Amino acid sequence: MAGPARVDHGVTSGTFSLDGQTFDVDNNVWVVGDDDECVVIDAPHDVDGILAVVGDRRVRAIVCTHAHDDHVRVAPQLRERVNGGQGAPIMLHPDDRPLWELTFPQDEHGYLWDLDLADGVRIDVGGTTLTVLHTPGHAPGAVCLHASDLGCVFTGDTLFQGGPGATGRSFSDADLIVESIRARLFALPDDTVVHTGHGDDTTIGAERATLG
Ligand SMILES: [Zn+2]
Repeated sequence: MAGPARVDHGVTSGTFSLDGQTFDVDNNVWVVGDDDECVVIDAPHDVDGILAVVGDRRVRAIVCTHAHDDHVRVAPQLRERVNGGQGAPIMLHPDDRPLWELTFPQDEHGYLWDLDLADGVRIDVGGTTLTVLHTPGHAPGAVCLHASDLGCVFTGDTLFQGGPGATGRSFSDADLIVESIRARLFALPDDTVVHTGHGDDTTIGAERATLG
């Protein structure tokens, strides 16, 4: 029995670097699926920490909410380790290629992700479906993943408890992130649980009330 679809969670610790600065950060890792198979949302810092959440399940995909280094740093190593070494595709929105290339320079050892994310793409796993919402602003290729039948959305660094993600550094756009949140995330029901890239959960209703 594969059991019902569920959301599992881990936290990894490490750094985030951009524009010549480095910060200590804790990142959420979200794993969505049933007892047999799952999708991993973001690959920060620590492969073993992520695999501890996955367990012995088949990994259908490694989905990156955006390409800041604290969300993709170990995606290639994770790809090599899952499914008995057979791997799983790394998925990223192609608008984040400039950020990906900061983390993984495209020299002779360079590699890209495997499959492009696009708005409206549906990822089926373990009896549930993740629908991609392209929400540029924090990063040009930032996406959120909506699981309507689980009543939750995975927002990466687009929406946190307390408001929008940071837009002070390169490749970010402060007006665009608010537009994305209003147009795409606030179109979801108020009781939708928001699983963020850093820190605590919130709900669409709570953030709608905060942002106004
Ligand atoms: Zn970020």
